[in-house]
Amino acid sequence: MQEVEAKTLMIPCAGEPWFGIRWTVNLYRGCCHGCIYCDSRSSCYQVHAFDTVRCKRDALRLMEAELRAKRSRGIVGMGAMSDPYNPFERQARLTRGALELLARHGFGAAVITKSDLVARDAGLLAEIARLQPALAGITITAAQDRLSRLVEPGVCPSSARFAALEKLRAAGVFAGVLLMPVLPFLEDDLENILGIVRCAKDCGASFVYAMMGVTLRGNQRAWFYDRLDERFPGVSRRYERTFGEATLCLSPRSRELSAALGAACLEAGIPFQMPGIVKALRAPYQLEQTTLFDGE
Ligand code: SF4
Repeated sequence: MQEVEAKTLMIPCAGEPWFGIRWTVNLYRGCCHGCIYCDSRSSCYQVHAFDTVRCKRDALRLMEAELRAKRSRGIVGMGAMSDPYNPFERQARLTRGALELLARHGFGAAVITKSDLVARDAGLLAEIARLQPALAGITITAAQDRLSRLVEPGVCPSSARFAALEKLRAAGVFAGVLLMPVLPFLEDDLENILGIVRCAKDCGASFVYAMMGVTLRGNQRAWFYDRLDERFPGVSRRYERTFGEATLCLSPRSRELSAALGAACLEAGIPFQMPGIVKALRAPYQLEQTTLFDGE
């Protein structure tokens, strides 16, 4: 695998807390999972040859130095710009190495992926969770494998991702489903959305977090429309008619779908809004702090 230079790895997160993540780390640049809607290939991110996976030179040494220099702890997230469990990770073990560093230095962890390889690190995530919050988010946008193979052709199908979710939960990891994007005219039907919630419930998911649409910009939009034309003839014209050049392309059924997802999650007892998810993730640690305080 090619290497690229990196000066720093831990980027502080600004704005609303996304899964309580305080810093993001990208150990790899580029991704070969080939999702037809991938936002990270947008020209605004300036990732040349996006489909070629490269790793950051000396990534773990850099990351350890940065962890040592931090004055306070927090959750370090992986998976913002590229999948931390791309096929090269099986051998390269950079993501695993980073999780080992987080465990050693007492930081929390959040990994976001579409690969079932994440289940390999269930024990390590559980070890981190003994002291700090640790979360695994598995992106699943299609209840049926047939559709997931068409929209996410370079990674395992949805059924394998649900199986990985089940393994993570069995190991005691706080793990759930990122139901995003929901592709208008392909995935925005009740059967798909409620099917995913049903499978998530069967796996014991800790959360389901959805966004009932997709973002499209510049070259990413053109790339997406080309893939649509190959696999779903006629659908790109519906996008053009409905969304024009808009970046945020919400499903025309987004309200109805959000309400149905909310009702299904409430019935299943699964958190589905970010404040509730972060609260559930942090709850065991706050309880410990209260207990310690009470005992003083
Ligand atoms: S897994 Fe994520 S980064 Fe990789 S192609 Fe799919 S959407 Fe893009």
